[in-house]
Amino acid sequence: MSNLITRPDASADWAVWLLEEPDETNPVCDAPDLTSYERFVVCMSGGKDSVACLLHLIEQGVERSRIELHHHLVDGREGSDLMDWPVTESYCEAFAKALGLKLFFSWKTGGFEKEMLREESRTAATAFERADGSVAIVGGEGGKPGTRRKFPQVSASLTTRYCSAYMKIDVMSRVITTEPRFQTWRTLVITGERAEESAARARYRTFEPHRTDNRDGIRVRRHVDHWRPVHGWTERDVWGILERHKVRPHPAYFCGFGRCSCRSCIFGGPDQWATILAYYPKAFERIAAYEEEFGLTIHRSESVRQLAARGTPYQADSRYFEIAGDTVYRESIIVEGEWQLPLGAFGDSRGPL
Ligand code: SF4
Repeated sequence: MSNLITRPDASADWAVWLLEEPDETNPVCDAPDLTSYERFVVCMSGGKDSVACLLHLIEQGVERSRIELHHHLVDGREGSDLMDWPVTESYCEAFAKALGLKLFFSWKTGGFEKEMLREESRTAATAFERADGSVAIVGGEGGKPGTRRKFPQVSASLTTRYCSAYMKIDVMSRVITTEPRFQTWRTLVITGERAEESAARARYRTFEPHRTDNRDGIRVRRHVDHWRPVHGWTERDVWGILERHKVRPHPAYFCGFGRCSCRSCIFGGPDQWATILAYYPKAFERIAAYEEEFGLTIHRSESVRQLAARGTPYQADSRYFEIAGDTVYRESIIVEGEWQLPLGAFGDSRGPL
């Protein structure tokens, strides 16, 4: 890391402000006027829906020089590898390079594991890459000390499912409220939730002011909108746009996973845990050991050991598990020849609600 910047400016109210629930009254299905934005911030998980958002922007004629990809590293960059696919960071880098786009990484320092192990301590600082290549570190000194020592709850509520809020939503908001380039002009933040995925996601608005919007501010007039362009899309629509652009999906899909969330996502079902146990036993054991240490399982009624015992591993070519378990992505992003639908397409798509 170079040019480290520390800005201890977190307020105690921050987390509360960020943990709003989806809007119950729903759908404003307007699409924004894309010509009215200076920059487009695509939250890029590496999964198919975020890729579809980006490809849709390109199809709509948005100049690539105005698009920024932002990927939140769930495990941080301080050495933890508890949750995520080892290959995801490298896959995102290869994707950005192949499409000629800027990519910025951001993360909660210490990642998921540090947040989960909080014991009478404050939530950690947020780190993010800046346009000049330096890394900024903000927050970490506000809020009340607290104790977690349990996995996030399997729930649509972002308050108890704290991983999504603290590892992703909060991190993105920190970037936008801190970086000077977002304090002027108009920014459009783009995320890939789809109504088809869950009842909770169906209630999300397609287009609304982003939670960091401050367009009527006195000192800072920050205009930020939030668009979910694939909110009304089917899974078939999503695979269709990847096929049109010949984009090779994240290797998790070729391993049989229907969603490319964290490898050890708390929403995993029996087959997913059986697959992790079969192909990544060390990663599985770390999750199981934490459940035993906490005396509380992720799914309150069954441990991951019990779930894995009644599941069946996905029947994918073992080569794909090696690719997904590598920290370097070595495949091409753009497929030459025939594009193939991965094994996980239209399959088990348990994931964040
Ligand atoms: S993918 Fe699953 S475990 Fe990872 S942050 Fe999202 S809900 Fe939490």
